[in-house]
Amino acid sequence: MKAPPFDYAKPATLSEVFPLLEAHGDRARIIAGGQTLLATLNMRLSEPEMLIDLSAISDLKGISLQSDCVRIGAMTRHSDIEDSALIAQHVPLLSMAVPHIAHRAIRNRGTIGGSIAFADPAAEFPACAVALDATIILASQRGERRVKALDFFQDLYTTAMEPNEIILACEFPIRQKTQRFAFDELARRHGDYAIVGLAAAGELKAGAMTGVRLVFLGTGSTPVRAFAAEAAIEGKVPGAQVIDAAQAALATELSPNADLYHSAKAKLHLAGVLMRRSMEQLAA
Ligand SMILES: Cc1cc2nc3c(=O)[nH]c(=O)nc-3n(C[C@H](O)[C@H](O)[C@H](O)COP(=O)(O)OP(=O)(O)OC[C@H]3O[C@@H](n4cnc5c(N)ncnc54)[C@H](O)[C@@H]3O)c2cc1C
Repeated sequence: MKAPPFDYAKPATLSEVFPLLEAHGDRARIIAGGQTLLATLNMRLSEPEMLIDLSAISDLKGISLQSDCVRIGAMTRHSDIEDSALIAQHVPLLSMAVPHIAHRAIRNRGTIGGSIAFADPAAEFPACAVALDATIILASQRGERRVKALDFFQDLYTTAMEPNEIILACEFPIRQKTQRFAFDELARRHGDYAIVGLAAAGELKAGAMTGVRLVFLGTGSTPVRAFAAEAAIEGKVPGAQVIDAAQAALATELSPNADLYHSAKAKLHLAGVLMRRSMEQLAA
């Protein structure tokens, strides 16, 4: 199938974007890397009358070190994040996660803003954003506002973005020296969307794990932060008994949907396997 007819605009500055959004409302659609949107157009799952291409707006691209965070412009490509020494040093969880996103050809086009805006619950960056307590910066004709990642992802493909808003950038807190991270996922083939994945963070203090954050992908309608499992580990030495308790807690709060190939029970089991592996990695 081919995409339905649409008008196309390629503004050179942000100030040109907002009047277009105001004029077309929900009949306009932003296009970033096109890696998700073009497929939905070709399948006629979406029939916008206007596509607004952000690729010429240089203000939306790039990775910069701020006083307490790393700011990544919405139009920064996955491959730029993958290749960034700044990200490897200050936001290593993203460096760990990005090779799991599709294949390099797709990472050369796909953008972090597109991934966060699309809010696929099996995507890597949304889960990392929640695990790292990132801030999503949104802008519209009315100005800018900031939303914490945990509040941003509201339901399946549904976010806190309001009509006529776009994502400007994402800010990730700079890694503290004592923080450790782990990212792992299980997929049928490398590059496929994850069956289940886990973005994990924590600090090891005198052998005990603190500041634990466990965020699962592929197990719900949004990235799922496992608060009960985190509480079972917090402040404890992450030995076998503690991990068993965390797995029991996980079973009370995670209720994955079955997919074409995996039952809900199998997915819950896989989530537990990933949690055990990640805790071993954080504690090593
Ligand atoms: C074969 C294949 C495999 C893939 N596997 C994975 C995978 O394993 N993991 C994964 O995470 N992703 C995967 N993807 C998706 C890929 O990572 C996309 O790049 C990602 O979804 C972002 O898309 P994009 O930048 O191309 O955005 P687009 O496709 O251009 O846009 C996606 C959506 O976001 C909106 N949007 C984009 N930018 C903004 C913005 N700045 N503000 C507001 N709204 C915006 C668009 O309107 C659209 O609704 C895969 C894609 C393909 C084709």
